[in-house]
Amino acid sequence: MRQSFNHHLKADVLIIGGGFSGLWAAISARRFVENVLIVDKGPKDWGGLGTSSGGDFQCVQDTTVDAALDDLVYYHDGLCDQELLETILTQSFERFQHYERLGVTFSRDEKGKLKAIPQRNLTHMKMLLVRPYGTGGPSMRDALVREANRLGVRRLGRMCVNELLLDEKGEAVGAVGFHAQSGETFAFSAPAVVMATGAGGWKPSYIFMSNSTGEGAYLGYKAGAALSHNEFMHIWNVPVLFAWEGQTGLLPVGARFVNAEGVDFMKEYYSPTLGANTDTTYNCRGMAFEARAGRTPIYFDTSPISAENVELLKPVHGWAKINYDRLIADEGLDFFKEKSMWMPQIMWHSGGLATNHDYETAVPGLFAACRCRGLDPGVYMGGWALCTTAVTGYITGGNAARRAQEKGLALFNRTRAAEAMARALAPLGREGLPAKDLVRETQEIVYPYEVCLIKSERSLKKALARVERAKEAFLPRLSAKTPHDLAKLQEGLSMLQAAELFVRSSLLRTETRAGHHREDYPQRDNDNWLAWIHAERGPDGEARLYKVPVPLERYRIKPYRYYMDNFTFPGSETAR
Ligand SMILES: Cc1cc2nc3c(=O)[nH]c(=O)nc-3n(C[C@H](O)[C@H](O)[C@H](O)COP(=O)(O)OP(=O)(O)OC[C@H]3O[C@@H](n4cnc5c(N)ncnc54)[C@H](O)[C@@H]3O)c2cc1C
Repeated sequence: MRQSFNHHLKADVLIIGGGFSGLWAAISARRFVENVLIVDKGPKDWGGLGTSSGGDFQCVQDTTVDAALDDLVYYHDGLCDQELLETILTQSFERFQHYERLGVTFSRDEKGKLKAIPQRNLTHMKMLLVRPYGTGGPSMRDALVREANRLGVRRLGRMCVNELLLDEKGEAVGAVGFHAQSGETFAFSAPAVVMATGAGGWKPSYIFMSNSTGEGAYLGYKAGAALSHNEFMHIWNVPVLFAWEGQTGLLPVGARFVNAEGVDFMKEYYSPTLGANTDTTYNCRGMAFEARAGRTPIYFDTSPISAENVELLKPVHGWAKINYDRLIADEGLDFFKEKSMWMPQIMWHSGGLATNHDYETAVPGLFAACRCRGLDPGVYMGGWALCTTAVTGYITGGNAARRAQEKGLALFNRTRAAEAMARALAPLGREGLPAKDLVRETQEIVYPYEVCLIKSERSLKKALARVERAKEAFLPRLSAKTPHDLAKLQEGLSMLQAAELFVRSSLLRTETRAGHHREDYPQRDNDNWLAWIHAERGPDGEARLYKVPVPLERYRIKPYRYYMDNFTFPGSETAR
C-alpha cells in the first residue's frame, strides 16, 4: 500500500470542477477569501461543457419572478423546490449583467431590446442569445477565465479527484486526487469544498458530454451526502449521422419532427396543442411510441423556418460552423433545406447531490453547485443550464467562502489522506477488467428505450438484475494500466452507481410525471408522489431510498396546472 502523496496543497475554498459553475463559484468566493483553488480532470481552463455551448442564457428580464416561477411549477408538474428556484430566478438578471460587465455581448434588436426566444411553449421562460451563433460559449469561458486570472484564482488541470476527506466530526476538509497523465498524487486541504463537477450521464456521443459522468454525486454519496432526482434523466434528439446543436432555438420557430409517413407525429398523435415545440424528453417519448408502431425512421424537418430565422440560427463560427459546412461539402446536405434522420439519445442524468438552500449537503462543508446538485425532474429549457451555472455557482462560492472564514484552517489528517490515496490507486497495475467494459455495460443497462423512456416494472426489474450482475462481475476485478485508465475507471464506477439509483428510484416512483413515464402507472399521483426520492448509502453499503414530501404548505404557488396534461401518449388516455 502506498502510504503517501507527492503534493499537499492548502486552500480556503477547494472547487472540484472548472466548468462555468466552478468558475462562477471561484469568482464569488474571492469576495471573501484569498486562497481559492479550482481542480479539474480536463485540460486547465477548458471551461467544461460551457465552452462548446451556444451561450443561450435564461434570465428574468421582461417579466416578473412570480410569473416565471409560476411557469416553472407548471413545467415541472409541481415537483420543484419553489424557494430555491425563486432565488435562482431573482438573481438571474444580476448574473446576466455581470456577464455583460465581463465583456460578453448578448443580441439586441435595432432598438436595443434583448432578443429572447420563449422556451417549450412557456410564456415567461425565455432564453437570451449570444450572436453570431457559435461565439457564445467561448466568449463566456474567456470572460470567466480572464476574471479568475484577475482575481488570482489558482487552477490545476488534469487533476482527477477521487475521494473526499472528512475529519473526525464527519465534516469535509479536503480531497485527494492524481494527475491523470503523470500519475503524481495530490492531497488538498480546505475548510470548504465545492462540488462543481457537472451532470451525470453515460457518455453519449453529444459534443464533450462523455466527460459528464456524475462524479460529484458519486464522491459525495460515498462521503455520506444524500442524492435526489435519480429517477429522472434528460433525453435529447440527435441526428443519427452527425452532430448538431441548437434545436432548442429551432423548435420554437417552426422546426418539427416527422415520421416515416411524413406525419408531424407530435402534433397529430400526442400533443395537438404543443406539437414538437416542447421538451426533447417528450419528443423522444413520441419517437419511441412511433418506433413501436413501426413508423420510423424519424426526420427533423427545418423547412417551416422563415428565412429570417434561418439567418439568426445558422452557425457562423466555431465547431458548429465547421460541421455545417462539411455537411454541405461532403454529404451534400444543407441542414436548413432538407430533412435529416434523428434519434433519441440520453443526454444527462438529473440525479445529483441534495442540499439545503445554501447549497450545502448533509456533509458539513461540502457544497454542490449547478448540475451536480439534483434540480430538474427530467425536463429542461434552453438557456437554463447556463443560468443555473452562473447563479448557483455564485451563491455556492459565496457560502463556501463564508464557511471558510468562520472555520479558518481545515483539520487535515495526513494518515487518512494517505489511506484514501492508497484506496484510489489500488486498481493501478493489477490484472483484471478494463474500465471500458464497465462503461459499455452501464450503457447497455440504461439505453434501451423501455428503461429510459417508457418504463415499466418488468423492464426496470430486468435492468436492476443486470445492475446486480454488473456489480458482482466488475467491482472486485477492475484494473487500470495507466493513470488515465484510472480516471476512466472512476467514471465507470460513477456511471454504474447512477444506473443503479436511476433504476431503483424509477421502480419506486409508481406514477408518471414530467420526464418520468411509467407505462404501468400512466397517471400522476399527487397524493403519494408530490415528493422527491432521496438516496443515501446505508451502513451495509446498499442504497437506502426514502421520500421527502414537497413542502407545499410553505409554498406560495399550489400546483394548479400541469405541463404533462398537454400530452396523450398510448395508455394515458384514460388517466385523467
Ligand atoms: C454542445 C453543448 C451546447 C450547449 N449549449 C447550451 C446553451 O446554449 N445554453 C445553456 O444554458 N446550456 C447549454 N449547454 C449545457 C451547458 O453548457 C452545461 O450544462 C453547463 O455548462 C454545465 O456547467 P457545469 O460547470 O455545471 O458542468 P461542466 O461543464 O460539466 O463542468 C464540470 C467540470 O468538472 C470536471 N470534473 C468532473 N469530475 C471531476 C473529478 N472527479 N475531478 C476533477 N474534475 C472533475 C470536468 O472535467 C468539468 O470540467 C450546452 C451543452 C453542450 C454540450
